[in-house]
Amino acid sequence: MIPYGRQSVSDDDIAAVTDVLRSDFLTQGPVVPRFEAAVARACGGVHAVAVNSATSALHIACLALGIGPGDTVWTSPNTFLASANCARYCGAAVDFVDIDADTFNMCAHALAIKLAAAERNGRLPKAVIPVHFGGQPCDMAAIHGLALRYGFRIIEDASHAIGARYEDTRIGDCRYSDIVVFSFHPVKIITSAEGGMALTKDGALARHMCRLRSHGMTRESDEMTGISHGPWYYEQVELGYNYRLTDMQAALGLSQLTRLDEWVRRRHELADRYDTLLAELPLDLPVRRSDRYSALHLYVVRVRDEAPIDRAALFSRLRDAGVGANVHYVPVHLQPDYRRFGFAPGDFPVSEAYYRQAITLPLYAALDEADQDRVVSLLKAALA
Ligand SMILES: *Cc1c(COP(=O)(O)O)cnc(C)c1O
Repeated sequence: MIPYGRQSVSDDDIAAVTDVLRSDFLTQGPVVPRFEAAVARACGGVHAVAVNSATSALHIACLALGIGPGDTVWTSPNTFLASANCARYCGAAVDFVDIDADTFNMCAHALAIKLAAAERNGRLPKAVIPVHFGGQPCDMAAIHGLALRYGFRIIEDASHAIGARYEDTRIGDCRYSDIVVFSFHPVKIITSAEGGMALTKDGALARHMCRLRSHGMTRESDEMTGISHGPWYYEQVELGYNYRLTDMQAALGLSQLTRLDEWVRRRHELADRYDTLLAELPLDLPVRRSDRYSALHLYVVRVRDEAPIDRAALFSRLRDAGVGANVHYVPVHLQPDYRRFGFAPGDFPVSEAYYRQAITLPLYAALDEADQDRVVSLLKAALA
């Protein structure tokens, strides 16, 4: 099976992990802060907090921004469940903003219209979570401008987008947001097996997220409410979690990070090849905007209505031939666990229309051109 995405693990990666296994620390030890510092450096970020998944990072990001019962958080319907669930973990409500028809990212214009209406009803969101779908950055300057006007916070779900750039900024530098979240799941750009990270410019937010990842516990006297009993003393000052990353995972992530730029470049070369080889087929190919550099986590094509077979038939043809095509994403508002809040088909028509036609083709740094050519010939046989 040629999968839609997969990790590349080198001998150096394996050596880095086995070094940790022979060291004094298995769980969070000295390698975690090295990984945090290296990601911050690579992405132009300031403070970085490593956790055991991007889902956990989104959760503590919401908590650190004070999101709770009575608040509403808006995100894109075209995302993985975790971008929305994080608000619900905090007791907040979730609503959605429809996507742009060409980038499949949250539409800044739709956001502006929805905010104007929400202001009239007194139901402005506490935070907005734009998702850099497929690794292509959202219109962050526009979204940030709206945040200044309407007073909401921004968490970028950059699970797909480590290594991406927007204007002259790197995704992760938080120029246009409060917090940026990365995922290091194996299908993403670099991996630590499971793992995630939250980056911020705000030192107080970073300290708060550090506390939340480890039981809400502190050993810093200036964070304590009482007087320290001695050097052994710790206080739980709020309810936190065990969301720590292990040193084994951090060692893998740190070793992978050295190939980040090379891998994103390779994804662009492979995407260029798809663009050329698929140009004559009845498919809408993904748009790469010239003012931003995508990390190209996903290569999604849409099957046009005039194609001889539809998306579902094409999906089965590819799977039967050993190509692990996929679909990103089932719109979150149509999930049964969201429909119970009143969401229904037709609420976010651009996301729903996109979903009916979308299919994700294999794309990862280690995809070889012979395998890519096989995917292309199958598509030609099915669609030409
Ligand atoms: C993968 C993903 C997540 C969750 O990442 P984990 O590290 O698996 O928790 C969140 N948001 C988006 C958009 C993702 O693709």
